[in-house]
Amino acid sequence: MEIDKKKDIRALTKEQLRDFFVNQGDKAFRGNQVYEWLWQKAAYSFDSMTNISKETRALLERHFVINHIRVDQMQRSTDGTIKNAVRLHDGLVVESVLIPTSKRTTACVSSQVGCSLDCKFCATARLKRMRNLNPDEIYDQVVAIDNESRLYFDRPLSNIVFMGMGEPLMNYNNVLKAIEKITSPEGLGMSPKRITVSTSGVPKMIKKMADERVKFKLAVSLHSAIDEVRTSIMPFNATFTLSDLREALAYWYQKTKSRITYEYVVWHGINDTQKDVDALVDFCRFAPSKVNLIEYNPIDDGAFRQANDDAIDRYVETLERNHITVTVRRSRGKDIDAACGQLANKS
Ligand code: SAH
Repeated sequence: MEIDKKKDIRALTKEQLRDFFVNQGDKAFRGNQVYEWLWQKAAYSFDSMTNISKETRALLERHFVINHIRVDQMQRSTDGTIKNAVRLHDGLVVESVLIPTSKRTTACVSSQVGCSLDCKFCATARLKRMRNLNPDEIYDQVVAIDNESRLYFDRPLSNIVFMGMGEPLMNYNNVLKAIEKITSPEGLGMSPKRITVSTSGVPKMIKKMADERVKFKLAVSLHSAIDEVRTSIMPFNATFTLSDLREALAYWYQKTKSRITYEYVVWHGINDTQKDVDALVDFCRFAPSKVNLIEYNPIDDGAFRQANDDAIDRYVETLERNHITVTVRRSRGKDIDAACGQLANKS
């Protein structure tokens, strides 16, 4: 019973931790020391806090636990990509991915266990959303990948994308708290400019982010700029329509002056005509934008098929002619099911 009552110490703010020590007759400063161990040094046990006295560590042990993730399984792709199966303190599992290029290491992290959305082409959508991740569970995924980057690539993590499992804007508060810790000098001290939050497009939350003047980048998984088409592959588009999305994005740009990136897969027979391209060009007009044409990663049943090269070329030519930046992105880590849309806890 005693154990059940113990609180997760990382749910406490620094102030609360300082207060705890003052209430115990110790100095508030002790709170700062422990806080540094918990976040900057990412300690997972009180025993590892070597500049804290034995008595104080025992006190912490009596009152708190440190809930933390465990990397259950690590798979390495032939292209260097690493996928972590991450076990949470309650036994649930999410996945995160380390993507190395010649100059960078990018962490692709999850924000929810499963996903509340229902995109027809995404493996994660087949799992129902079980729960939101806590800020520390997001932070820990980043720390694990930073460690792996140092170990295997001899350099720290350089970028983070919220493109793992889940819809980050449906777990907005915790994602924001995690980013605060990741960017704080008291955490990992990373620049927010190196962080991208990817969303399927939740207009209300995009406006909220704009109002809060967040400093990270925004990517939107668009896939079609025609309502009927988008609703057929991303059914929540019936509720969050393109016109609402566009209005929210215009607001975002007006407030942040930060360019929007669109993630876009071109599928055979779904969005591969000139009409689809023109709609995309039209959708992009209101603000500087960039389109990432991403490769489709088949997920079992074959209902979706990547469009042929001619269709991709048509997108590239038309976008460029209209002065919209476009890149064609190859997938990484396909052999270990670590590519976009493949995260589904197969193990
Ligand atoms: N829910 C957020 C975060 C997930 S990001 C979002 O939708 O943006 C995952 C990215 O991979 C999204 O751009 C998604 O549209 C894309 N994706 C999903 N399934 C895919 C697949 N099978 N092949 C390629 N990309 C896929």
